[in-house]
Amino acid sequence: MITVSEARKLINDNYPPAKVELMQLIDACGFVLAEETYAAIDTPPFNQSAMDGYAFSFTEWDGNSNLKLIGEIQAGNFSYNQLKPFEVVRIYTGSALPMNADTVVMQEKVIKHVDVITIKDEHLVKGSNVRLQGSQGRKGEITLPKGHYLTPAAISFLAGTGIDKVKIYAKPSVSIIVTGKELVQPGEPIPEGKIYESNSFGLIAALNQLNISPLSLEVVDDFEEDIVQAIARQLQNDILIVTGGVSVGDCDFVSSALGKCGVEKIFHKVKQKPGKPFYFGRYEQTLVFALPGNPAAVMSCFYEYVVPAISNFTKKNYFKKLQLPLAKDFMKKPGLTFFLKGKSEEDKVFVLENQESYLMNSFAMADCIVELEEVMETFKQGDLVNVSMIV
Ligand code: AMP
Ligand code: MG
Repeated sequence: MITVSEARKLINDNYPPAKVELMQLIDACGFVLAEETYAAIDTPPFNQSAMDGYAFSFTEWDGNSNLKLIGEIQAGNFSYNQLKPFEVVRIYTGSALPMNADTVVMQEKVIKHVDVITIKDEHLVKGSNVRLQGSQGRKGEITLPKGHYLTPAAISFLAGTGIDKVKIYAKPSVSIIVTGKELVQPGEPIPEGKIYESNSFGLIAALNQLNISPLSLEVVDDFEEDIVQAIARQLQNDILIVTGGVSVGDCDFVSSALGKCGVEKIFHKVKQKPGKPFYFGRYEQTLVFALPGNPAAVMSCFYEYVVPAISNFTKKNYFKKLQLPLAKDFMKKPGLTFFLKGKSEEDKVFVLENQESYLMNSFAMADCIVELEEVMETFKQGDLVNVSMIV
C-alpha cells in the first residue's frame, strides 16, 4: 500500500500533455489561454470623442474667440477634411475626430448661435474629452498572457481588439462506469436487497460544477465480462472513472477487468480513509480512476485525485486550499491519511459527525475536506490542518 503523497506523485507523473484547442471567442469564457493574445488593431482605432460636443484644434485657438461650426461627424462616420483653425465640428461620443482636431468641448459647455460656438469652459485643456488612438493598446501588442483565465470582461476586451478566436486549454473528455448488481435508479421501485444508485449522480454533479459534461455513463452488473466490455467502450476518452467493485471481494472484478482491457495498473490501494482500495491506471493517454463504491469514498477520491487531473488539462484551479485551526480535538488511527468532511468558518474548521464512508448525510452538509496526515494520531483544538474547499 502506498501513501497519499506517493499516490499523488504517481498520478502526476502520468499526466498526458494538455490539449490546446482553437475556440470561437464567444465560447471561450471560463477557459484558460494556452497562448498569449495579440491586438489586431490599435484600440481605439482612431482619436475618438469621449463626449457629445464639438471638436476643434485647441492648439491653434487663442482661448476666447468664437469658433465656426462647419459640419457634423456621427459615430461610425469618418471625415477626410482637415479642420482649419477656429473651426469646429459637431461630434458625438465614439465619433472619430477630424484631422487636426485635438480637443472636444462638451455640448453643455458651449453657447451656440446658429453656426457659431462660444466656449464657456474654464477647465478645458488640450486633449480634453478625447480618447487617443491606441491609448488602450497598440496593434500587435500582447493583450493577455498565456495562462490567463478568461472572464466575460476579458472576452469583451479581446473582441474589442479584433480577436474572434483564441487558443485555450481544452476540457478533458470524461466517461463514467458504475458497477454493482444492487443498484436501482432513483425514481424506480426498489426491490428487497437493492439500493438506489447515487455515485453517478454525485460524480456528474461534481463534473458539471467544473463545467464538464461526461460523454457517457454506463451502469453495469458485477459480471466481469460486462465490466470488460464497458471499459473497452470507454477507453477512448481522456479520463475514465469507474466506481465499485475495486476491492478484493469475490464480486470485485474491476481491477481484473481493467487488466484484461490492457490498462496498466499504476497503483492499487492507498493508505487513506475513506477510499483505501482506490486504483489508478493508464491506458495509452487515458487516465483510469477506479474508486471504491462507498459514496463518500467516491466523492472524496474525486476531489482529491480526479479534480487535480482535470486541472492539469484545463490549467484551472477549481477549489481553494487553505490551512485552518481545528475547532475541536480529534483522534485518529495512525498509518492512514484521513479525508474528513468539514465545515469551515472564517477562523476555524469543524470536523463533522458521521464520517463513515457509506454515509452521505454529513458530506451533504460539508463545505470542505479536512486532510489529517498519516502518521499523527492526536490533533488538538487550534492545530493548523489542510483544508480543501469543495464549494
Ligand atoms: P463496492 O466498492 O462495490 O464493494 O461497494 C461498496 C459499497 O458502496 C457497497 O455498500 C455498495 O452497495 C455501495 N455502492 C457501490 N456502488 C454504488 C453506487 N453507484 N451508488 C450507491 N452506492 C454504491
Ligand atoms: Mg460492488
